[in-house]
Amino acid sequence: MSMWANIACADCGMRGPDFGQGGFLGYPSLAVDKGPAGDSGGPELVNLGFLLPAYAALGLASVGLDRLCAFLKEHDGHGMFILSEGHDAESEDLPPALTAMLEAEEADDEEEEDKRLDAWRETWEPPFGDEYAEARYELACAGCQTSLQTVGGASWLRTTNKSISEEEASLVLQRLFQVEPYNFYRADPILNPHEGLQPLRAYLDYHKGHDLKARTVPI
Ligand SMILES: [Zn+2]
Ligand SMILES: [Zn+2]
Repeated sequence: MSMWANIACADCGMRGPDFGQGGFLGYPSLAVDKGPAGDSGGPELVNLGFLLPAYAALGLASVGLDRLCAFLKEHDGHGMFILSEGHDAESEDLPPALTAMLEAEEADDEEEEDKRLDAWRETWEPPFGDEYAEARYELACAGCQTSLQTVGGASWLRTTNKSISEEEASLVLQRLFQVEPYNFYRADPILNPHEGLQPLRAYLDYHKGHDLKARTVPI
């Protein structure tokens, strides 16, 4: 059983957004190089900023991804830390601001805790504005007249309708499939190239250079 994780700003003593099923996407940094990114305590993570061009090439963005990027922009230059379920105020590897944050959280009575959690969750609830829709994500090849849709439920996705060039398809294959799957730890399944779009790799491999389009299909 895997544990949840939550990024947090080690300078501000503040939790980042809840992401996916309590996970993260790469190392929480918008730096565009691959890394080495900071120590996650697990297998090697690459910077989120290194993965982002692949999602841009796919025209794939969820509310969760956009909120995560917004948090990282707001805390530009600050230290990020990956908090996991096992951390508490007594954990010795925590930066002081996060120890203080966890102490404050642990001191909350039930009512205060509910209020804090509600305020934290509120920012994640729909509606998010016109640019997002509860949708499935679909790739379609006009030449071969086939399509590939995300499996499982829909997510709140940024509406898209774009062509994917051969170069873009190659970039996706390199950046999303040549990194440790741990980079997509409990991420939104739709953003996990190994889950939500299981046959993505084979589909891109086969159809790159064809008349390939990505779109969101509202449900
Ligand atoms: Zn900060
Ligand atoms: Zn094709």
